[in-house]
Amino acid sequence: MSHLIVMYILSAIIIVIAVIALAAVLPMCFMHPLPSSKVEGTDITAIKNRSNNLFFIPAGENWLVVDAGSDSRAVQSEMERLLIDAGKVLGVFLTHTDYDHVASLPLFSNATIYMSEQEKQMIDGSTYRQFIKKNKLPMVCDTDKVVYLPDNEVVELGGHRMRNIWVPGHTKGSAMYAVDEKYLFTGDAFKADKGRITVHPYTMDRRQACESISKIEKECSRYEKVFTAHYGIL
Ligand SMILES: [Zn+2]
Repeated sequence: MSHLIVMYILSAIIIVIAVIALAAVLPMCFMHPLPSSKVEGTDITAIKNRSNNLFFIPAGENWLVVDAGSDSRAVQSEMERLLIDAGKVLGVFLTHTDYDHVASLPLFSNATIYMSEQEKQMIDGSTYRQFIKKNKLPMVCDTDKVVYLPDNEVVELGGHRMRNIWVPGHTKGSAMYAVDEKYLFTGDAFKADKGRITVHPYTMDRRQACESISKIEKECSRYEKVFTAHYGIL
């Protein structure tokens, strides 16, 4: 009898773990980042890295980058294939600090790293990402050199105007970047589902994310193209 009870408990634990694992992985099956190449009709180059994109914006001889991918080696080999010199990246503009957006930061050793000032709490140990997990930048990154941007701050770099737009919810300081008021890079501020904008699957604060989505829906129509991190172009 006691063996039966132990078996039931073990089965229940295994089922719970399997359901949690499935819930964690399933949303990735519906992500559809752009292939690594120049994005048609633009001068932007997308690099596909597992389930997301990082984006390269030409700045004369140099580059600006939005987000930094999840796999340094894969990013490096795609950059070599597309003849992009990591040493010529002037700035990396992080939409937020989840692992799949920061892991290849060490490739860009000459770049200044930018993020919203509200995202600082995600990497300085003061706010948990989920349960006991905290976000952090790769070891070699000097967090003292990160430039933290207030909402709506414009950075002029490499001949471009990069405007930081705070859209919290996915993480506490998630941000989008408007480039020259022409292109909008939205990171994980939302999930795009057949052109419809909904809450991203791995969101910290759904209420805050919904408020941000209302703001985003008003913003999107102002731009020629809207680039998401996991769902291609809107
Ligand atoms: Zn994220």
